[in-house]
This record gives sequence, C-alpha cells and structure tokens, in this order.
Amino acid sequence: MPSLYVHIPFCVQKCDYCGFYSHSLVNSPKDLISLYLEGLEVEMEKRKKDAPQGVSSLFIGGGTPTSLKDRDLERLMEMIHRHFSLNVKAENTVEGNPGTITDAKLTCLRRSGINRFSLGVQTFNDKLLKAVGRMHTAQEAREAIGLLRTTGFNNINLDLMFGLPEQDMVTWQETVEEALSYSPEHLSLYGLMLEEGTPLYERYNKGLNDKRDRIEGVKIESKSRCRPTIAVQGDWIPDDDLQAEMYDWAVERLKQAKFSHYETSNFARPGYECLHNLGYWRGEDYLGLGPGGVSCLKRVRWKNIEEVRTYQSRLHNGQDPVDEAGPEALSLHECMAERMILGLRLEEGVNLDLFRKDFGVDLRDIYRDVLERYKNKDIFMFEDEYLRLNPKYSFVANSILQEFV
Ligand code: SF4
Repeated sequence: MPSLYVHIPFCVQKCDYCGFYSHSLVNSPKDLISLYLEGLEVEMEKRKKDAPQGVSSLFIGGGTPTSLKDRDLERLMEMIHRHFSLNVKAENTVEGNPGTITDAKLTCLRRSGINRFSLGVQTFNDKLLKAVGRMHTAQEAREAIGLLRTTGFNNINLDLMFGLPEQDMVTWQETVEEALSYSPEHLSLYGLMLEEGTPLYERYNKGLNDKRDRIEGVKIESKSRCRPTIAVQGDWIPDDDLQAEMYDWAVERLKQAKFSHYETSNFARPGYECLHNLGYWRGEDYLGLGPGGVSCLKRVRWKNIEEVRTYQSRLHNGQDPVDEAGPEALSLHECMAERMILGLRLEEGVNLDLFRKDFGVDLRDIYRDVLERYKNKDIFMFEDEYLRLNPKYSFVANSILQEFV
C-alpha cells in the first residue's frame, strides 16, 4: 500500500523565508480554492487505482491546510474518504498553523479519522515571529496546543526553527523549554534556510551589501551556498557555528527529556515516530496529490504542476497534471543512492538485508569505495545488519552523503 499525501497550496499570508509553493489567501482570487478542489477531485478519481488495497497513512500538508474554510475542509475530507480506503487506526496527519485553528475545524478532522496534528510553532518569541513574517503570535500557538488537546489529539508534533534573525542561544533554549512544557509527542527542529527570491533573502543580502559598502577591507566569507557570513559583529542571522551549537544543545536536551532522535531533524517519544515520513525515508511508495504533489510508485516518480489554474484545467480536459519533466523512471543506481541518503538520516540507518532484497546487491560491494574512504574516520558504523551514520555528524552529513550519488 502506498502512503497518501495531499498538498494544500494555500496560506493566510506568505512567511518572509518561505520558498514553498503556496498562495497567500489575502491576495488570491476568490475562485482559486474551488478550482483547486475541483481539480483535486478529478485527480483522486484518476489515481484511486494506484491504491486498490487502501493507503498505509495519510498526510495533509501545505501550505496551511487549516487555512481552508470549514466547509472546504469538510469537502476535502469527504473526497479523500470517497476515493481512498483510509485505515482509521493508521497514522493520519494534518498540518496547521496557529491563528487558523478552530474547535469546529479540529472536530471535523477528528471525526474524519485524523489522529495526528503537526503545528507550525517555530518559536514562542513574538519578536522573532515578526522578524520572519509569521502571521501568528506566540499566544495563538499556546492556545492552539490547548485546543488540540481538548479536542482529543494525543499525538501532536510541534515544528520549531533555529537560526532565526537575531535569535540567540537563550531565546532558542526558552522556546525548546516551553515546547517541552506542553509534553508534545513529537518535535521537528529545522534550521532557517535563506531561499533565493524570498523577502528575507533579499533583506539579508541588502544588509550584507550595505555592510560591505560601509566597512572597507572586511573579509566577506561564504560558508555555505545560502548563508553568507560577514566577519564583523552585529550579524543579524546566526552563522553556521551558532546554528550548529543550537542544534547540538537541543539534541542533548531532548535526549534528557527521553525523546528518541530518530531522524536528523525529528525527535519522538517512544512509539510516536512519524510513520508517514519513515515510509519516505525507508524508500516505500507514495502518492502525492494536488498542485506540486510528488509521487513515486514502483520506481517511477513524477511531480504535479504547481500552478493551481493550470493544474485544474489540465485535469478538467482529461490530461495528466504532471509537470514538464514528466514521469521519470528511476534507474537502479538512483534508487540505491536515494535509499542511502535518506536511510542514513535515520538513527536506525540502512537495513543491509532489505537493501539486498530490493536491489539484488550488497551495499558493501556497491559502495565499497566510499566506505573505504571513510573507514578510519569514525563516520559509518555497521551494527546488527544496519549501516548507520555516527550521530556526531548528522548536522553536517549532507556533504558526506552526496558521495553516494
Ligand atoms: S505557513 Fe508554512 S508554507 Fe505557509 S508561507 Fe509560512 S512557511 Fe510557507
């Protein structure tokens, strides 16, 4: 059974750092959501054949799914149930943001079999929320958590961000401590990425250029592709070293609080790991519906076109809404590399037996060169039929993992 992802490409307003495809409802034409739902219904009708036995889990993400009006949310849930067989005992998640969550919406979701909620808190500091253009306050996040509990959600994830403009270690620690005080079942911690084309990126680069003009002879370093660092005091975005310290501190703190660090950015109380995402990381099949949705079934991957009107009109005219790259049959080599890159982000690592069963080769033979190169560096470990990455390197693992491509 594949897992099912449904993408809701709408948010109340865009956050300043966001490079995802989503429409700000403040500026969108009124008919856009109905066009979206019309297109989605046709896509569900076409795609239900891909999950004849039902779906292993559901994840409704975005965007901000809870920015839909009550009646649109109800229609969405009804459509999902009409086309796909959901297991109400499986993990069925909805994402949402503070300020868009009401008792009526949560009750509708609970009634429709949603049993996990992922809330975009990011920080409990109002100044920092404002600095990145989030549309909600810390108090609204607290209220949303309270409402989730009173409507019966006993599996909650809180998304938190580090590396925000002017965030120091103390404000980061305060946010993590406050999050822990609500006893969430799951926490996802993400470092801020400066995405080209976003308002935050433009502001940051302008600030950087102004400084460059003002301070003659100061060396401007670029530590990473998207995070140039200026070697003077008063940087307004934490540099890579401080971000790494924030991450390391949180890893230790969450370990003390008995969370398992089961994936680079994800932490769970025992038994509350996100099964839907574990499926991606373990290389299982998934179906992604809606504009921008990505699917991968039997080693064929495709991505839907992002623009809502084009998505809807393609479906309306009986065409596939797949983007210009079209469906791509992944080579064995690509599938193996992906299994390594995603699997090594997991604490459990890559299962040697399963790799052999799925690809007909032993990963120790295929990747002999890479493994040899790092043999004496304490980076990879073979344990109980798994290949694992030493957790010490998880924050900087990307460059190492690229060697499997
Ligand atoms: S709420 Fe999420 S998806 Fe929407 S604009 Fe903000 S970061 Fe992007």
